[in-house]
Amino acid sequence: MRKKVLQILPMYDPKGEEILRRGADVVYTDRYDEDHLCQMVQGVHAIVLRAPAKITRRIIEAADCLEVISGAGVGVDNIDVLAATERGIPVLHAPHLNNNATAEHTVALMLSLSKMVVAGDRAMRRHQFSARDGMRTMELRGKRLGLVGFGRIAQRVAEIARQGFGMQVMMYVRTVDERRRQRAEELQVQLTTDLAELFSTSDIVSLHVPLTPETRHMVNRDILDRMQPHALLINTARGGVVDHDALYQALKEKKLAGAALDVFDPEPPEPLELFQMEQVITTPHIGGLTREATEQTAVTVAENVLKVLHGQKVDTVSNPEVFQDR
Ligand code: NAP
Repeated sequence: MRKKVLQILPMYDPKGEEILRRGADVVYTDRYDEDHLCQMVQGVHAIVLRAPAKITRRIIEAADCLEVISGAGVGVDNIDVLAATERGIPVLHAPHLNNNATAEHTVALMLSLSKMVVAGDRAMRRHQFSARDGMRTMELRGKRLGLVGFGRIAQRVAEIARQGFGMQVMMYVRTVDERRRQRAEELQVQLTTDLAELFSTSDIVSLHVPLTPETRHMVNRDILDRMQPHALLINTARGGVVDHDALYQALKEKKLAGAALDVFDPEPPEPLELFQMEQVITTPHIGGLTREATEQTAVTVAENVLKVLHGQKVDTVSNPEVFQDR
């Protein structure tokens, strides 16, 4: 029997949709209110959804033969994982396929800020060629890049910065162990457990930690005050890691020279004055959205949903405990 998949909103790439359609009967909806979805899940074996659609406990409890739920990308914060786990339903996602994409976007923002690409473009659009007289850009070679976090994206940024630009790289970790020390040696970077040191000595600071209660507003007034007046801040991690009011004040008071933000809290963001500042660059959370990463993500999601429907285990599961008894 062919299984039935409910697809809510388009996947990140049509290749994933093709794979799903080849392996199952796909029902598509772009309506995602709870009542509608409670009806749609009847007779459905799998759900593939994309934010802002949400799978709530009520929807999961309304399903009669649901075997698997999958987010369309990295996040599962729009799925009630606990309710799914209680019913033994695996919740899949496709983590880490956009690491390189996000690292490259970080570097793009670092170059755009330090070379004043966006400010220059804005001046040209206003026919202000003479703006160049007051513009002094910054070279990256020999500068200190401070990376907050030592995960996959931070390490890829470190590689590019060290090998590509000859920057000195310092990375903030909560604890240092032998494995990290060795990896830091391979990457030719310095580790620190002192966040204040990293902010006060870096020419560019870039954030690469998840949003947790511990990291929410980690970049606050106190830490921003420690930055050097010529220093730049980049956030491609999560919007909530930065206190945007504090960043606005710090930029106004010239505690740092500029900031580039790809992520916001909430998304889409409120129209803050911060985003209108000349020394601020923003992009609409596109760090991970390369053609390559979105295609690989959609294909992985579709293939893994079909595998679970055929009784196989996959390792891209956010609640692996549901596979334990199988
Ligand atoms: P990862 O490999 O899981 O690494 C996360 C790192 O953060 C780890 O080194 C972890 O250290 C560290 N960390 C966690 N809490 C910390 C804290 N309180 N203080 C210091 N370090 C802490 O993550 P990743 O794949 O590199 O992703 C990094 C960020 O990028 C995430 O916020 C992710 O959501 C974001 N992201 C954004 C985009 C985009 O489109 N802009 C795309 C992909 C990912 P431990 O090992 O000690 O826990």
